[in-house]
Amino acid sequence: MATKKKKRPSPTPKVPLTEGITPASAFDNALVQFNRAAKIIKLTPDQVAVIREPRRIVECKLPVRMDDGSIHAFKGYRVQHNIARGPAKGGVRFHPDVSLDEVKALAFWMTFKCATIGIPMGGGKGGVIVDPTRLSKGELERLSRRYFAEMIELFGPDRDVPAPDVNTNPQVMAWFMDTYSMHHGGDYLPAVVTGKPLEIGGSVGRSSATAQGMVFCVRRAAAHLGLSLSGATVAIQGFGNAGSFAAKLLREQGCKIVAISDVSGAFTHKDGIDPDVAIAHVEKHKTLAGFHRVKGVERLADPMKLLELPVDILIPAALENQITGKNAGRIKAKVVAECANGPCTPEADDILEKKRVFVIPDILCNAGGVAVSYLEWVQNRMGYYWRYQRVLEDLEHMMNTAFDTVLKTALQHDVPLRTAAFIVSIERVARASELRGLYA
Ligand code: GLU
Repeated sequence: MATKKKKRPSPTPKVPLTEGITPASAFDNALVQFNRAAKIIKLTPDQVAVIREPRRIVECKLPVRMDDGSIHAFKGYRVQHNIARGPAKGGVRFHPDVSLDEVKALAFWMTFKCATIGIPMGGGKGGVIVDPTRLSKGELERLSRRYFAEMIELFGPDRDVPAPDVNTNPQVMAWFMDTYSMHHGGDYLPAVVTGKPLEIGGSVGRSSATAQGMVFCVRRAAAHLGLSLSGATVAIQGFGNAGSFAAKLLREQGCKIVAISDVSGAFTHKDGIDPDVAIAHVEKHKTLAGFHRVKGVERLADPMKLLELPVDILIPAALENQITGKNAGRIKAKVVAECANGPCTPEADDILEKKRVFVIPDILCNAGGVAVSYLEWVQNRMGYYWRYQRVLEDLEHMMNTAFDTVLKTALQHDVPLRTAAFIVSIERVARASELRGLYA
């Protein structure tokens, strides 16, 4: 009797929206943020037309041979938002919820993130609609190489330089870099991507850079607000690269990590979670599933309630649109430090402002990642690699300078930090465009 073959779950599942979250267009939200600042600095309609919209949008079909011999056609995007200040820069995301709207918003935020921290790069972002946990390593490699090969003409050290984002990592960057190098006759061309493994041109300090940059911002914010970090309570949504390093580094600052979460759920411990135990758990089990079996740890029935815990510092380190008009009124944190891109909608921003919550916006707070990507790119082009201390010092200088400039601008115009960061960065992008004559 022939045995029926078990149907394999699709690698591109449609994930239902988390209950309670209003489906919002991330790009529309980004435009609202832009418009708020553009109004204050009185941008002309020509300037708005040149700066706000993406420069180039590419959508590709990515056929990949699966292990069972079948072919699955994935869909991938790359958006170059702006290149006035330097090559397009920004990660590539592998996630089932990737959409063109999302990639446009993420590319947009990269333009203003790079300008806020003053690195000579523009904005770009890529994405593939896929659940990478449903792929074998071989399938993931073939998909990564196909993505890069399909768009090879877009990329280059002076053109467009990708990096890791949600669900992509140094190994994926290594495949990107190899695909590009082989396409160019086997030359060693590491500067085409950042976030690579150290062995092939990565930079020390890159993997912890996003969280480290956030810590520099939080330290500045705490000093401004008169908040002591020693014993300050923290809740972190998302336990990927940014979230897990955030837990580790904030604990080193004396904070108590009372809640963490990932796709498998949210977990609390009133005396504080040991980040090393949580990281070891994820290394072993892939996610935090089952973490409540650790002594003292409890599981929240509704993971979204993590955002509403009575903590000093809340770190959204997952996806967009998490704090919305619906739940912002219930946020109790004094400081929201955005490690994720776009976690607060404009409606949420208005509510948080009224509640006097100090929001450190994504384009400042999580810019440490791209800052060290820039340092990696510089080292690749020199062929000379720095010590960790040098990278850390440069990162601290970039973050502190950016934070001080944004805070000063916020106080000057009496606006929240997000609008201030857009004022600073839009002015820089506009000036670069003007100098290059791009208004013509
Ligand atoms: N994906 C990260 C971000 O959203 C890093 C981008 C980069 O290093 O280019 O900022």
